[in-house]
Amino acid sequence: MLLALEKLLVLQHCDQQIRDVVLTLEALPREKESCDRDASRAAQRLDAAQAQRRELEKELKKLDGDILSKKEQIARYKTQQLETRKNEEYAALRHEVEVAEKVIAEIEERQLVLMEKGEALTQDLETAQAAHDVEMKRIGKILSTLDGRRENLSQRREELQQQRPRLCEGIEEDLLERYDRLFKSKEGNAIVAIENNVCMGCHMKVTTQTVLAARAEKEMINCSQCGRILYNDEDELVLQKK
Ligand SMILES: [Zn+2]
Repeated sequence: MLLALEKLLVLQHCDQQIRDVVLTLEALPREKESCDRDASRAAQRLDAAQAQRRELEKELKKLDGDILSKKEQIARYKTQQLETRKNEEYAALRHEVEVAEKVIAEIEERQLVLMEKGEALTQDLETAQAAHDVEMKRIGKILSTLDGRRENLSQRREELQQQRPRLCEGIEEDLLERYDRLFKSKEGNAIVAIENNVCMGCHMKVTTQTVLAARAEKEMINCSQCGRILYNDEDELVLQKK
C-alpha cells in the first residue's frame, strides 16, 4: 500500500473517533432536554391525579356544610313549632322539616357515590405516584451520568486531537487538504475500500481500470462517482496484520 495512503487511513481512523466523540458530545444537551421534558410530563400526570382528588374532597366538604345548614334549618323549624299555637302553621313547619330531611338524605346519597369515586381516585393517585417515582428515578440516573460522560468525552477528544498533528506528519499538504475536504463532505468517510469491484463509499461499481490502478499502488485513486479516495480491500488485511 502507498505510504501516504496508509498514513491517511490511520489519520482517518483518528478523525472518525474524534467525529464520533464530538457528535456524542453534541447530543448530550438534547438528552438532557428530553429528560427534562419527561420529568415535567411525569409531574403533570401526578398533578392531574392530585387535582382530581382535591376537587372531590372539596365537594365532599361542601356537602358536609350543606347538611349542617339543613340541620340548623330543621332545628329552627322545630323551635318555631314549639312556639306556634296555630295548627296550620304547625303543619306547614312539619312539612318544611320533612322537605329538609329529604334534601339531607339526597345529599348523603351523593356523598356515598363520591366516596366510592374517591376510593377509585385514591387508587389512581397511588398508581400515578408510583409511576412518577419510577420515571423520576430513571431520569435521575441518566442525568447523574451526564456530567461524567461529558467530562470523559471531552478528555477523549482532547487526547485524540493531541495525537492528530503527529499523524499528519509526512503527508503532503495538498493531499491533506483534499482528504480534509472529503472527510467533511462525506461525513467521516474520505477513504474507502474497493470490495468486489464496488466502492464502499457510494456502493457503485467501479471500472476495472480503477480496480487495476488501485492494485498497482502507484498513485492515489479516486472513485469516479463519489470522489472518495480508494484503496484495495486486500490491502486492508495487510494493514490489520501490521
Ligand atoms: Zn464511490
